[in-house]
Formats: sequence, structure tokens, C-alpha cells
Amino acid sequence: PYTGPSAEEILKKRQQYLSPAIFHFYKNPLNLVDGKMQYLFDDKGRRYLDAFGGIATVCCGHCHPEVVDAIVNQTKRLQHSTVLYLNHAIADFAEALASKLPGDLKVVFFTNSGTEANELSMLMARLYAGCHDIVSLRNSYHGNAAGTMGATGQSNYKFNVVQTGVHHAMNPDQYRGIFGSDGPKYAKDVEDLITYGTSGSVAGFISEAIQGVGGILELAPGYLSAVYNTIRKAGGLCIADEVQSGFARTGSHFWGFEGHGVVPDIVTMAKGIGNGIPIGAVVTTPEIANVLTRRNYFNTFGGNPMCTAGGLAVLRVIEKEKLQQNAFTVGTYLKERLTSLKEKYEIIGDVRGRGLMLGIELVQDRELKTPAKVETLYIMDQMKEMGVLIGKGGFYGNVFRITPPLCFKKEDADFLVDVMDYVMSKM
Ligand code: PMP
Repeated sequence: PYTGPSAEEILKKRQQYLSPAIFHFYKNPLNLVDGKMQYLFDDKGRRYLDAFGGIATVCCGHCHPEVVDAIVNQTKRLQHSTVLYLNHAIADFAEALASKLPGDLKVVFFTNSGTEANELSMLMARLYAGCHDIVSLRNSYHGNAAGTMGATGQSNYKFNVVQTGVHHAMNPDQYRGIFGSDGPKYAKDVEDLITYGTSGSVAGFISEAIQGVGGILELAPGYLSAVYNTIRKAGGLCIADEVQSGFARTGSHFWGFEGHGVVPDIVTMAKGIGNGIPIGAVVTTPEIANVLTRRNYFNTFGGNPMCTAGGLAVLRVIEKEKLQQNAFTVGTYLKERLTSLKEKYEIIGDVRGRGLMLGIELVQDRELKTPAKVETLYIMDQMKEMGVLIGKGGFYGNVFRITPPLCFKKEDADFLVDVMDYVMSKM
């Protein structure tokens, strides 16, 4: 049993010693003590079904024994910066990771987070193209450092002192966008941005395949391929931010971009790559990677043995336990069940996403699509009381984000939907 400080004590310390900007989910925040596969346990030993997976960071399951063993064994042996000496862990993981990517995407740079990976990707695109302008999407999230904050397309994540050099294109949002699901129509906006807002050349384009923080929005079909053509004509590189949609989460594919039939020039990843430990990566072609030889490019802990040993174990578990297939089967079933809830409750405006990356947008009025923000919070809170944790996102804070560990089972999907159904029926 847990004998550590109580939730109240921790909250008090948090308020006194940690950033005043941090927030927590739930009226009575959870004090989480243990994790096991798709379950989390609080200080009283109460079990919760985790359908958010620490913001899609946990792919194999909490504390998956094979991943933990790999991390612990490596840490007992050596944990160090990998920049100056040889160690097999970084090389083994780079090789395994490269084998998961198409085409010429074979050179890996390791970082410690998604922000760092995206910063590096934009630096490489700028160096390669020899210009500064980047095109990104409205409603995107790419990180919290200067460049990535600039690329992020949501005012609530941007501080106004940051210089951007980024042009934000119309979001191919199939639910609220003016062109519905007509991808190529939205893509025309990127052409216009380049024509009217730049010299005619750009360094690149960065986007998620499914916007995560933005509320599980899958880009309209036909959009990415059209934009990739436009960007390449303007001399730019296409960057796929796979921080949330990568690592088998979408079920149909290992990477989110594969669902759009494109091959990016640079792919960035984090979160699921380490099943909860801090690691990110950028994968690109040898030719593009070469731009970083012009200066010293240095990252003390990028690719350290502990994290790369963990990452390699994650890839092995995904294959061995067929987690991509599971994400597809269970995700498809869960989406069907959620879609049938939509027939029952007017408040559900949209059910969307792929595999185990699903979103449910709540609206007060289906015609006007008025965000049902308060109701979203209420339902989340009630579901937590009944033992189910889901996430929340979208610019208006009215979208449930369901991104569980990929070991989520059909029974878990049923429990989640039954609990949501019960809570909605009592409103
Ligand atoms: N890209 C995407 C798509 C993300 O969702 C996030 C994190 N929410 C990031 C980048 C930044 O990752 P990190 O928080 O690890 O810096």
C-alpha cells in the first residue's frame, strides 16, 4: 500500500513550488501511484482505465515489463551522454527505427522531446532550402520553444514576443472547415500564402496527420499530397510531425502520414517512441542530414543509452504483441460504438479519428456547433469518478481525446462507452 504524501499535501507543494501556469485535470486531482498496462492506480489503490495514455505517450502499456527491463538493465550498466563515445544502444535503435520508415528516410537524430525534434526539423529545412519561411497549419501544436511555438497555430499556446517566420494556412478541418472534406480546395491556400506572403520560396511545411492537441482532427483527404507538391515546387521540405500519430497508433499504418499516401522529407517523433520516457527523434534522408555537418550540432542527452535501449524494446513489443493490429481492431470497434452514442445524444457533434486516436466533439447545438465546454469538463469528471480517464483538447476545450495505451482491449472499449453512456444519460 501507498504510504507517501496525500493528494492535498502534494497539491500544496505544487502550488508553492511549481509553475503557477500548470493546471491539472479534475476537480479533485488524481494522485497516481502505480501503472500497469492500460490501468492506473491512485493513492488509495483505486484502479482507473487509462484511455488517455499520458497524452498518447504510453504505447505498449504502463510499465510494460520488457520495456522496464531494457531501461533498468541498461541503466545499471551505463547511462551517459552518447555524443563523444561509442555505445551500441543508440546505433541499434537507429537501425531499427530507420527500418520502419519508407524510402530514403534512413538517418536518425535523437532528441529529448517532441519540441526539440520539431525545432531541429525546421532548422534542417531552413538550412537545406537556404530560406526562412515555413508554412504550418492553423490549430496545430508543435512545441513550446521559440521556433515550434511560432509554428504552433493556437493563440492559447503562443506568447506574443516570439518571432515566427511561419505562415499559418487554412486548416483542412472536415468538421468546421468551409470546404468540408475537400482536401485540394484547402491546399490552394498554401499556394496563395507562398505567392502573396513570401518571395516565392519556402523552407518547408510542417503538419500533423491527425491534430492531437487541436482536437483529433484528421486532415481532409487529398490535402497533404496536394500541399506536398506545392511546397516542393517552392523549394521547401515536407515535415511530418508524428509525435502523436506515430508508433502504430492509427492502426491502419505505423505512421499517420501513410494514411495520406505521402512520403515526407523529414519525420519527427516523440511521446510513444519511449513508452513514457523522455526521448524524441528526427528521421531524414542522408542528403538533408548532411546540412548539419556545416557546424557542430550537439545534444548532450539525445540518444542516451537508457532511452535508446527503452526505445528499441518499445519497437520489439509493438511487433511481438501485434499492437498495430490491436489498435486497428479495437479502435475500429470503439469508434463504431462511439458513433452509435452519437445517435443517442444530441450533444455529440462529431466522432472522428483512426485506430486508438479518437475524438468526440461536444456541441450545444449541432447546427451552430457551439462548443459545449462546461459539459465536456463535467462528463470527464464524472467518468473519472466511475474509473475511466479520458483526455480533452481542441481550441475550445470541447473535444474528448481518446488515446489509450495500444494494449487496450475490446472489453476496455465497452467499459469506456458504457460509462460515457451512463454519464450522458444522467445529464
Ligand atoms: N508535436 C505534437 C503533435 C505534440 O502533440 C506535442 C506535445 N503535445 C509536441 C509536438 C511537443 O512535444 P513535447 O511536449 O515532447 O515537447
